[in-house]
Amino acid sequence: MINPSDFVVNIDDLPIHITIYQVKEGDVYLVDLNVAAQVNEKLNKNELIGKKLLEEFPSAKTSGLFDTILEVYKTGESQNLDLMLYQDTHAHRWKKNYVIKLSNGNIMSLFDDLTVQKKLELELTKEKKRLEDAQKLAHLGSWEWNIVDNSLSWSDEVFRIIGEQPQSFIPTYEKFTSYIPINELAAVESAISESLATTQNYNVIHRVIRSDGGVRFVQETGIPFFDDNGEPSHMIGTVYDITETHNFKVELEKTSSELHTVFEVNPHITFITDGQKILTVNRKFLAFTGCKTLLEFKVKHKCFSELFISREGYLDPAINKHNWVAHVAHNPEQSHKVLMVKSDCEYTFSAHATRYSLDNHYKYIVVLEDISELEKHAKTDYLTQLYTRHKVHEMLQLNFDQFQRYGQVFSIIMLDIDHFKKINDSFGHQVGDSVLKKIASIIQAKTRTTDTVGRWGGEEFLIICPNSDIHDTYKLAECLRTTIENYHVEPVGKNTASLGVHCIQQDMSIEQLIHGADQALYYAKNNKRNRSVKYHAHLTEL
Ligand code: GH3
Ligand code: MG
Ligand code: MG
Repeated sequence: MINPSDFVVNIDDLPIHITIYQVKEGDVYLVDLNVAAQVNEKLNKNELIGKKLLEEFPSAKTSGLFDTILEVYKTGESQNLDLMLYQDTHAHRWKKNYVIKLSNGNIMSLFDDLTVQKKLELELTKEKKRLEDAQKLAHLGSWEWNIVDNSLSWSDEVFRIIGEQPQSFIPTYEKFTSYIPINELAAVESAISESLATTQNYNVIHRVIRSDGGVRFVQETGIPFFDDNGEPSHMIGTVYDITETHNFKVELEKTSSELHTVFEVNPHITFITDGQKILTVNRKFLAFTGCKTLLEFKVKHKCFSELFISREGYLDPAINKHNWVAHVAHNPEQSHKVLMVKSDCEYTFSAHATRYSLDNHYKYIVVLEDISELEKHAKTDYLTQLYTRHKVHEMLQLNFDQFQRYGQVFSIIMLDIDHFKKINDSFGHQVGDSVLKKIASIIQAKTRTTDTVGRWGGEEFLIICPNSDIHDTYKLAECLRTTIENYHVEPVGKNTASLGVHCIQQDMSIEQLIHGADQALYYAKNNKRNRSVKYHAHLTEL
């Protein structure tokens, strides 16, 4: 027989937490705490014994301990009190209580302190929530597949990606495959089986068809795991919703293809260069250079500027051999003309270049616009096919520059048809036009190729004679005058012209030169016409 007195133990020797209470007049008083409880609560029982439970530990009310003690006291039946938070000035702890009535009427509570576990659990829940939020933000779902029992678990985001409520059903492998379009399923399944066979991760992009018909593009990654026998045990992986990126990529590809078409079909010679070598060219480039490919062009030519013809007023390939593109790009306010020859025909281009930066490298897009026709119209007078006044000005400037730089003298002749108005009045404008044309061709025929002949005004012509002094030029003027005089144009008959001659001199401007020739012409007009007059300072007195 076991004697109950053999079981009398000192509660301080027990490793579990024990508190003894006394119920008196409907209130609960602290009677004793064992050492384990005092250590756990960091309390000294001498400060607590005899005190009212609720005064020291008000949370005993909210946690239900106070009422449980009263109930156990009343009924004599032990009770379990679930894990509760006890929070007051003394402590902040999670405890589980077992409350029993002792034979002396006191109440004993045995409690487990699960604060550490509870804290970990709370941390874990928080971490899980954070992970879920991160997955939601990144449109990245995760999954785990137990191959042995074929169970699958999905994070909330996987459900969202496939258009379902999070955790609204238990996922299975079959359920997963049901969202993949039938024609893409084989590729996904073979990626998975290859991953299991090779132990390598798999990565596959496929579509997901949602139950409402919506389409998402996902990138799926899986990592296989194996047991000690090398048998596949499970797989974990991610599902990444790349729909936005995919759509953006498709849009970008479309735009880039459109831009490429614009580049290809634009009617100007266009190419891209890094400043050293040509990287891309368009159709017009190949058509003009007569090459089928850029490679063929590079075999035939060292550089593009090799095709440029060197002439005053045009981009000089010798000076700008390697940096003409940079020169054009850095001086966009200037006009840059390029002269090239194809099949014995001269072509004038207006060159434009723009520098841009890509991947930390500079590139240039170069456009050469064919302005040959425009140039021709700007420099050729439609009726007489002589140079226009604009072009004559340009040539005057050119001769003037040569004179200033190298001292090359030049002279000019201003020629005006006499009484031209009468021709128009008597024979009509059309006949007037034919006389203008005829006289223009006479002047053209009688001058040198190095001379410049232009239509200065209605029936007024200007001739520039390089390397000619006033005497040589006067001779030419007289030759022109007599030839015109002796030429009969039907039905007008004889025509005459008056001419003023002037030669450039030091400290004379272009305007002064023209003015001088004009004055000489004016003098001729006022002195019976049909004559050539050299300019000199005392002309008016003659
Ligand atoms: P002058 O001997 O003093 O030079 O007399 P002019 O009649 O030649 O000079 P004026 O300046 O009085 O008249 C010039 C005329 O030339 C007037 C204009 O109708 C004519 N004219 C100007 N351009 C053209 C053209 O392109 N075609 C024709 N048919 N006539 C023109
Ligand atoms: Mg006239
Ligand atoms: Mg006139």
